[in-house]
Amino acid sequence: MTDKQPPKDENASKIETLKTLDQLVFSATYSAFRTDPKDQTVWPRDGGLIEGYCPSCKKNTTWRASWPTPLATNGPETITLRCRRIDSHRAYVFVVRKERGHTFIKTGQFPAASISHGAEYLKSLFKHTHHSDADEFGLALRAAAEGYGIGSLVYLRRIFERLIRTRIDEAVEQGELKKEQFRGKGMREKINLLKDHLPDFLVEHSQIYAILSKGMHELTEEECQRHFDTLQQSIRMIVEEDNEARDRLERRRALSVSIREIDTTKS
Ligand SMILES: [Zn+2]
Repeated sequence: MTDKQPPKDENASKIETLKTLDQLVFSATYSAFRTDPKDQTVWPRDGGLIEGYCPSCKKNTTWRASWPTPLATNGPETITLRCRRIDSHRAYVFVVRKERGHTFIKTGQFPAASISHGAEYLKSLFKHTHHSDADEFGLALRAAAEGYGIGSLVYLRRIFERLIRTRIDEAVEQGELKKEQFRGKGMREKINLLKDHLPDFLVEHSQIYAILSKGMHELTEEECQRHFDTLQQSIRMIVEEDNEARDRLERRRALSVSIREIDTTKS
């Protein structure tokens, strides 16, 4: 007999149930998932398909995932992802299995953080915003993948702040608002003043900034890691909406110029 208690799993309540393999592949390092290794939805016999970015093709691709069987044991395992464009392109996700394969913990991946979002993709996503945004968004993803939750939110917050700052400058330059109107104002008030110049999603969810700030000052490392995916997706949604609006504006301007040229030649 021993009086030693089995170690208590402190993360037990935070373990998510794995619904799709994507969740595991794109999660931060040391994310833990509960799963049934016999569940054919998550672990189909012929391997699952995952949509993501291939750093070798520099394009979005479909990856075919495979793993050695049986999954229902303990210990390390490698999930191999094969690019369906070119079979020699590979990526790997490393996991540790516990409870006879009923708990999976992601321990790493190769190449680092680039399976889901490549540099080219980020460059095109942030084409209309500050030149540092794509790099810092990439750093946020990398920080999250390596388990630095608080750090990852700091990068997202900087991107958010830069977007607001740029919009204030533009609105002032266009003479639509005055610099003094923003002086001493909190972020929520600034967003309210700028609401005609910002993507709807941002205006409707202006509390994103409060969450990012809370992450830096009050939330625990684990809470930051848990919220990262929602927050990074929200930033992407904001930037995507903004891109659509900017692209439309550019097309309108180009068309106006063309129409004016027709008028000049006709008169
Ligand atoms: Zn590829």
